[in-house]
Amino acid sequence: MLLELAVGDAYGAGFEYASENLHHNDLSRYVAHPRHHEICPGCYTDDTQMTLAVAELIEEGVEWTSLNIADKFVTVFKRDERTGYAGHFYDFLKSVKDGQEFLKLIKPASDKSGAAMRAAPIGILSDIDVVLERTKIQARLTHDTPDGIHAAQAAALLSHYFVHDIGPFVDVGAFIESHVPGEWDTPYQGKVKSKGWMSVRAAITAVKRNQSLSTLLIDCVNFTGDVDTVATIALAAASVSREYTQDLPEQLIMSLENGSYGRDYIIQLDERLLALL
Ligand SMILES: [Mg+2]
Repeated sequence: MLLELAVGDAYGAGFEYASENLHHNDLSRYVAHPRHHEICPGCYTDDTQMTLAVAELIEEGVEWTSLNIADKFVTVFKRDERTGYAGHFYDFLKSVKDGQEFLKLIKPASDKSGAAMRAAPIGILSDIDVVLERTKIQARLTHDTPDGIHAAQAAALLSHYFVHDIGPFVDVGAFIESHVPGEWDTPYQGKVKSKGWMSVRAAITAVKRNQSLSTLLIDCVNFTGDVDTVATIALAAASVSREYTQDLPEQLIMSLENGSYGRDYIIQLDERLLALL
């Protein structure tokens, strides 16, 4: 789950709001973003970093409180600072020293995709009500709006559906609609802009119309817009689907960044997380 979503995020980052790069969308390599030169090809972004934070919280089994979650978000950012975050949130994370300060100063009114892009690991948990509740608690730290919370819950249920083998992948949108308000089974068309529901619905759309990770990743990028987030959410889910062909190209896996919290770290955390099933 985590390795594939990191590859999706890093690959998608070269195409985020950069449709002029689309002719490179063939999975042969990580493409440099035409404007964001600070994101090196093969480096993941905020989507993966915050997902690692959520995955660590689950794997460590700490109490699911706002303070513990906020502490983890700050720790994970500061141990391995990177851009790719929305500018104001990046500045905010740089400015706070711990979770307590985070909670005191955050203005969590966003309905964008930030709470959804990090929600996939919560789907590992076996009880749907617990998945929905924990997803909501983590979402409210930064995205305390109905749309922000619902998008996150839909993303968590997307991975939950596959990791627990609940049904055929074409039925996943209807499954999510039966638990979370929103038109999750309506195909998304056009460019993916910043609202959380857009990334999640695009991810669900792409997951339903592909059968292999490689074509799925290309399809996610072809939406254009916020495609690193679409790819993160979609690959997190499809990578744990029994029905999906697991064929991400080796060159993308091997050229994913591999510093202290890169590929090897992610593979180990992934193993510990999936061992909880
Ligand atoms: Mg990103």
